[in-house]
Amino acid sequence: MTDSNIFPQLEIPNTLAAGPGPGNTDARVLARFASAGIADHMHETVLRGMVECKFMLRDLFGTKNIHTFGVAGTGWSGLDCMFSAVMPGDTVVAFSNGTFSGIDALTIRMKAATREELAKDSLNPTAASVTVIEIPHGQSVTGDMVEAALKEHKPKWAFMAHWETGSGRINDLQGFSDACVKHNALGLIDAVSSLGVEDFAIDDFKGVAGWASCPQKGVMCLPLTYAPVSFTDKYIEVLIASGSYSYVHHPIMEARHWGIVDGQDVEKGGYHRTHSGYAVAALHEALRITLQYGLSKRADDYIFHENALRKAIVSMGCNVTSNMTSLLVLNLPENMSGREMELVQACRAENFGIWPTLSSPVQVRIGILNQLTQSAITEIVNRFAIAMNRMGANLNIDNINDDLETYYNQAIAAQ
Ligand SMILES: *Cc1c(COP(=O)(O)O)cnc(C)c1O
Repeated sequence: MTDSNIFPQLEIPNTLAAGPGPGNTDARVLARFASAGIADHMHETVLRGMVECKFMLRDLFGTKNIHTFGVAGTGWSGLDCMFSAVMPGDTVVAFSNGTFSGIDALTIRMKAATREELAKDSLNPTAASVTVIEIPHGQSVTGDMVEAALKEHKPKWAFMAHWETGSGRINDLQGFSDACVKHNALGLIDAVSSLGVEDFAIDDFKGVAGWASCPQKGVMCLPLTYAPVSFTDKYIEVLIASGSYSYVHHPIMEARHWGIVDGQDVEKGGYHRTHSGYAVAALHEALRITLQYGLSKRADDYIFHENALRKAIVSMGCNVTSNMTSLLVLNLPENMSGREMELVQACRAENFGIWPTLSSPVQVRIGILNQLTQSAITEIVNRFAIAMNRMGANLNIDNINDDLETYYNQAIAAQ
């Protein structure tokens, strides 16, 4: 007998979460998570909490879709549920303009590949029925690109990321939806980065049949809980007709625990899997916070604070190539070019959690998820500027702070 594999208790430090996600989890969410009692997954309060979450998720998504609920796990869990209706041989057009839509396209190729295609290269299959349109890093998917590809290929399914977090680019959701309607394709959207950050209602996008998001970005629920998903009746009809190879991520079966049975809301869910009361309590609080704040106010605040950060970063000589309102993706000034990874690593070593891009080219990513205050933005700006100066940037930090304060004072004066 040896006890050499018993380690000291794990102490995770507190960091400034200033990356693309996970965002800074609200203290109220963590408090709900930690103070939930020990109740099983069929306890009536847990079931009531899930039903209430379902209704709040419909408000957050802006939808009347009955099949709106949370998939246990992370963003990829919700996306796997959404893609579960894609069957071998299905025709799909997928747009890829960065790391995440690239992984989505991989998921689609895995699901649409025939057995032979999958066996040939099972970790990275090519599927003859799937067309992946590659858009260069740093560019957005436009409505014209979607229109041209759907017109040519006439697929059953079309896929796009709403906000591509890898390159920080917003893609044209309206153009995507319009092209799907016109060419009778079922649209699927990765809304992992946009839900809870932009003010939009999914019911306005008639060409989109399936939506998937995540807990820890715009919804601010890092105690990994539930990935919000929503499906139109049309999606559900297609799913019933052709099936899915998943029990756990089957959109109709998973919906049952949330009190959605035979396309109707019922008072209480039935067993699908062992949900955690802690997770339900955390998600419930995160949704309450977001809805109390108000989605349009939240979206405005993201625009306002991203602009403050953007101005400061640009004044440091950096070149910002993103247009998301929760995230800046940037190149360092020319004389520091190529040292992006070094800068990010130095910041991360001090628990200032910014990120590099995960696929080439190497850029710096600084995010503001749930950092919607002057003091939070000021801290991010200062920590970044200090890190730049340590690498020889020679910035005048007093001037940067003066400009930042002027921006905020002007906004207060204008109110
Ligand atoms: C973060 C992200 C994902 C993956 O989400 P996880 O929670 O890490 O599973 C997928 N798509 C996009 C657009 C993302 O930003």
